[in-house]
Amino acid sequence: MDLKALYKLSYGLYIVSSVKDGKFNGQIANTVFQITAEPPTVAVSINKQNLTHEFIQSSKVFAVSILAKETPISFIGQFGFKSGRDVDKFANVNFKKGETGAPIVTDNTLAYVEVEVIKSVDVGTHTLFIGKIVNAETLSNGEPMTYAYYHEVKNGKSPKTAPTYIKEEVKKSDGAKKYVCKICGYIYDPEKGDPDSGIAPGTPFEKLPDDWVCPVCGAPKSDFEEL
Ligand code: FE
Repeated sequence: MDLKALYKLSYGLYIVSSVKDGKFNGQIANTVFQITAEPPTVAVSINKQNLTHEFIQSSKVFAVSILAKETPISFIGQFGFKSGRDVDKFANVNFKKGETGAPIVTDNTLAYVEVEVIKSVDVGTHTLFIGKIVNAETLSNGEPMTYAYYHEVKNGKSPKTAPTYIKEEVKKSDGAKKYVCKICGYIYDPEKGDPDSGIAPGTPFEKLPDDWVCPVCGAPKSDFEEL
Protein backbone atom coordinates (compact mmCIF):
# COMPACT_ATOMS: atom_id res chain seq x y z
CA MET A 1 0.00 0.00 0.00
CA ASP A 2 1.45 3.33 -1.07
CA LEU A 3 0.11 5.92 1.38
CA LYS A 4 2.01 8.61 -0.51
CA ALA A 5 -0.99 8.50 -2.84
CA LEU A 6 -2.67 10.62 -0.16
CA TYR A 7 -0.21 13.44 -0.90
CA LYS A 8 -2.22 13.98 -4.08
CA LEU A 9 -5.26 15.07 -2.08
CA SER A 10 -5.62 18.86 -1.97
CA TYR A 11 -6.31 20.95 1.12
CA GLY A 12 -6.20 24.49 2.36
CA LEU A 13 -4.82 25.80 5.63
CA TYR A 14 -7.05 27.25 8.32
CA ILE A 15 -7.18 28.39 11.91
CA VAL A 16 -10.00 26.70 13.76
CA SER A 17 -10.81 28.53 16.98
CA SER A 18 -13.23 28.04 19.83
CA VAL A 19 -14.14 29.16 23.33
CA LYS A 20 -14.70 27.56 26.73
CA ASP A 21 -15.49 29.31 30.02
CA GLY A 22 -14.43 32.65 28.52
CA LYS A 23 -11.06 31.27 27.39
CA PHE A 24 -10.02 31.31 23.73
CA ASN A 25 -7.98 28.78 21.82
CA GLY A 26 -7.28 27.95 18.23
CA GLN A 27 -5.21 25.62 16.10
CA ILE A 28 -4.12 25.03 12.53
CA ALA A 29 -6.25 22.59 10.55
CA ASN A 30 -6.14 21.56 6.92
CA THR A 31 -9.21 19.34 6.97
CA VAL A 32 -12.03 21.85 6.74
CA PHE A 33 -14.53 21.18 4.00
CA GLN A 34 -18.03 22.12 2.95
CA ILE A 35 -20.57 19.31 3.13
CA THR A 36 -23.84 20.81 1.89
CA ALA A 37 -24.89 24.06 0.27
CA GLU A 38 -28.45 24.16 1.57
CA PRO A 39 -28.25 24.70 4.44
CA PRO A 40 -24.56 25.67 4.32
CA THR A 41 -22.65 23.17 6.47
CA VAL A 42 -18.98 22.39 6.96
CA ALA A 43 -16.93 19.79 8.82
CA VAL A 44 -13.51 19.69 10.43
CA SER A 45 -11.46 16.81 11.82
CA ILE A 46 -9.79 17.65 15.15
CA ASN A 47 -7.40 15.51 17.20
CA LYS A 48 -8.81 14.51 20.58
CA GLN A 49 -5.55 15.47 22.32
CA ASN A 50 -5.83 19.09 21.23
CA LEU A 51 -7.17 21.76 23.57
CA THR A 52 -9.32 23.13 20.74
CA HIS A 53 -11.07 19.74 20.66
CA GLU A 54 -12.01 20.13 24.33
CA PHE A 55 -13.28 23.67 23.67
CA ILE A 56 -15.43 22.71 20.65
CA GLN A 57 -16.86 19.71 22.45
CA SER A 58 -17.82 21.93 25.36
CA SER A 59 -19.17 25.07 23.61
CA LYS A 60 -20.41 23.40 20.38
CA VAL A 61 -19.18 26.37 18.34
CA PHE A 62 -16.09 27.14 16.29
CA ALA A 63 -14.80 29.66 13.78
CA VAL A 64 -12.66 28.98 10.71
CA SER A 65 -10.21 31.60 9.44
CA ILE A 66 -9.10 30.94 5.86
CA LEU A 67 -5.42 31.85 5.66
CA ALA A 68 -3.77 33.83 2.86
CA LYS A 69 -1.02 32.35 0.71
CA GLU A 70 1.49 34.88 2.09
CA THR A 71 0.89 33.89 5.73
CA PRO A 72 4.33 33.75 7.46
CA ILE A 73 5.36 30.31 8.62
CA SER A 74 6.00 31.72 12.13
CA PHE A 75 2.33 32.71 12.36
CA ILE A 76 1.27 29.21 11.38
CA GLY A 77 3.75 27.79 13.91
CA GLN A 78 2.23 29.93 16.66
CA PHE A 79 -1.09 28.15 16.17
CA GLY A 80 0.15 24.82 14.88
CA PHE A 81 3.08 23.68 16.99
CA LYS A 82 2.18 25.14 20.36
CA SER A 83 -0.50 24.14 22.81
CA GLY A 84 -2.98 26.55 24.32
CA ARG A 85 -2.26 24.70 27.57
CA ASP A 86 1.23 26.31 27.59
CA VAL A 87 0.76 29.66 25.86
CA ASP A 88 -2.00 32.16 25.14
CA LYS A 89 -2.14 31.86 21.37
CA PHE A 90 -4.21 35.02 21.10
CA ALA A 91 -1.73 37.23 22.97
CA ASN A 92 -0.09 38.80 19.91
CA VAL A 93 -2.66 38.37 17.16
CA ASN A 94 -5.58 40.45 15.95
CA PHE A 95 -8.94 38.80 16.45
CA LYS A 96 -12.53 39.64 17.20
CA LYS A 97 -15.24 37.90 19.14
CA GLY A 98 -17.76 36.33 16.81
CA GLU A 99 -21.53 36.02 17.05
CA THR A 100 -21.11 32.54 18.51
CA GLY A 101 -18.71 33.81 21.19
CA ALA A 102 -15.79 32.01 19.55
CA PRO A 103 -12.77 34.18 18.68
CA ILE A 104 -12.09 34.88 15.00
CA VAL A 105 -8.47 35.40 14.00
CA THR A 106 -8.31 38.25 11.48
CA ASP A 107 -4.54 38.41 10.85
CA ASN A 108 -3.57 36.81 7.50
CA THR A 109 -7.23 35.90 7.06
CA LEU A 110 -9.04 36.21 3.72
CA ALA A 111 -12.44 35.14 5.00
CA TYR A 112 -14.02 33.38 7.93
CA VAL A 113 -17.08 31.34 8.81
CA GLU A 114 -18.71 30.80 12.16
CA VAL A 115 -20.18 27.41 12.87
CA GLU A 116 -22.57 25.76 15.33
CA VAL A 117 -21.93 22.06 15.75
CA ILE A 118 -24.93 19.88 14.86
CA LYS A 119 -23.20 16.51 14.95
CA SER A 120 -19.94 15.01 16.24
CA VAL A 121 -18.61 11.77 14.81
CA ASP A 122 -16.06 9.80 16.85
CA VAL A 123 -13.38 8.52 14.47
CA GLY A 124 -10.83 7.10 16.90
CA THR A 125 -7.93 9.54 17.24
CA HIS A 126 -10.05 12.40 15.93
CA THR A 127 -13.57 13.79 16.10
CA LEU A 128 -15.31 15.00 12.98
CA PHE A 129 -17.29 18.08 13.95
CA ILE A 130 -20.11 18.88 11.55
CA GLY A 131 -21.86 22.21 11.83
CA LYS A 132 -24.07 24.77 10.19
CA ILE A 133 -22.66 28.12 9.18
CA VAL A 134 -24.29 30.89 11.18
CA ASN A 135 -22.12 33.78 9.99
CA ALA A 136 -19.53 34.37 7.25
CA GLU A 137 -17.53 37.31 5.96
CA THR A 138 -14.86 37.99 3.34
CA LEU A 139 -12.09 40.26 4.63
CA SER A 140 -9.82 40.51 1.60
CA ASN A 141 -9.45 39.12 -1.90
CA GLY A 142 -6.06 37.43 -1.83
CA GLU A 143 -5.24 33.88 -2.80
CA PRO A 144 -5.72 31.22 -0.12
CA MET A 145 -2.85 29.14 1.24
CA THR A 146 -2.91 25.55 0.06
CA TYR A 147 -1.52 22.64 2.03
CA ALA A 148 0.81 21.81 -0.88
CA TYR A 149 2.18 25.37 -1.02
CA TYR A 150 2.75 25.33 2.73
CA HIS A 151 4.78 22.11 2.49
CA GLU A 152 6.62 22.62 -0.79
CA VAL A 153 7.29 26.35 -0.95
CA LYS A 154 7.13 27.45 2.69
CA ASN A 155 8.93 24.26 3.79
CA GLY A 156 6.26 23.79 6.46
CA LYS A 157 5.71 20.65 8.53
CA SER A 158 2.76 18.86 10.09
CA PRO A 159 2.62 17.61 13.67
CA LYS A 160 2.03 13.91 14.31
CA THR A 161 -1.45 14.78 15.56
CA ALA A 162 -2.55 16.07 12.13
CA PRO A 163 -5.27 13.94 10.52
CA THR A 164 -3.22 13.84 7.33
CA TYR A 165 0.15 13.13 8.95
CA ILE A 166 2.39 10.71 7.08
CA LYS A 167 5.87 9.97 8.41
CA GLU A 168 8.36 11.62 6.08
CA GLU A 169 11.51 9.94 5.02
CA VAL A 170 14.19 12.54 5.59
CA LYS A 171 16.59 12.83 2.70
CA LYS A 172 20.27 13.00 3.53
CA SER A 173 21.77 16.34 2.70
CA ASP A 174 23.62 16.78 -0.55
CA GLY A 175 26.17 19.58 -0.53
CA ALA A 176 25.20 22.39 1.86
CA LYS A 177 24.35 20.95 5.27
CA LYS A 178 20.73 20.93 6.33
CA TYR A 179 19.66 21.05 9.95
CA VAL A 180 16.46 19.72 11.48
CA CYS A 181 14.55 21.16 14.44
CA LYS A 182 14.28 18.41 17.03
CA ILE A 183 11.07 19.96 18.37
CA CYS A 184 8.91 20.31 15.26
CA GLY A 185 10.79 18.69 12.39
CA TYR A 186 11.33 21.90 10.41
CA ILE A 187 14.35 21.56 8.17
CA TYR A 188 16.65 24.54 7.69
CA ASP A 189 17.81 24.39 4.09
CA PRO A 190 20.70 26.83 3.43
CA GLU A 191 19.69 27.01 -0.22
CA LYS A 192 16.31 28.45 0.73
CA GLY A 193 17.38 30.40 3.82
CA ASP A 194 14.55 31.80 5.94
CA PRO A 195 13.29 34.87 4.07
CA ASP A 196 10.39 35.40 6.50
CA SER A 197 13.00 36.05 9.21
CA GLY A 198 15.31 38.08 6.95
CA ILE A 199 17.76 35.23 6.27
CA ALA A 200 18.88 35.31 2.64
CA PRO A 201 19.00 32.13 0.54
CA GLY A 202 22.54 30.72 0.60
CA THR A 203 23.12 31.37 4.32
CA PRO A 204 24.74 28.34 5.99
CA PHE A 205 23.28 27.24 9.33
CA GLU A 206 26.54 28.17 11.08
CA LYS A 207 26.19 31.79 9.89
CA LEU A 208 22.68 32.25 11.30
CA PRO A 209 22.54 34.91 14.05
CA ASP A 210 22.58 33.52 17.60
CA ASP A 211 19.10 34.84 18.27
CA TRP A 212 17.63 33.15 15.21
CA VAL A 213 14.84 30.74 16.16
CA CYS A 214 12.97 27.99 14.38
CA PRO A 215 10.45 29.82 12.18
CA VAL A 216 7.85 27.14 12.82
CA CYS A 217 7.97 26.49 16.57
CA GLY A 218 10.27 29.18 17.98
CA ALA A 219 12.93 26.74 19.28
CA PRO A 220 16.50 28.15 19.55
CA LYS A 221 19.42 27.09 17.32
CA SER A 222 20.60 24.68 20.02
CA ASP A 223 17.53 22.53 19.36
CA PHE A 224 18.73 21.83 15.82
CA GLU A 225 20.85 18.93 14.70
CA GLU A 226 22.62 18.18 11.46
CA LEU A 227 20.78 15.90 9.06
FE1 FE B 1 10.87 23.91 15.29
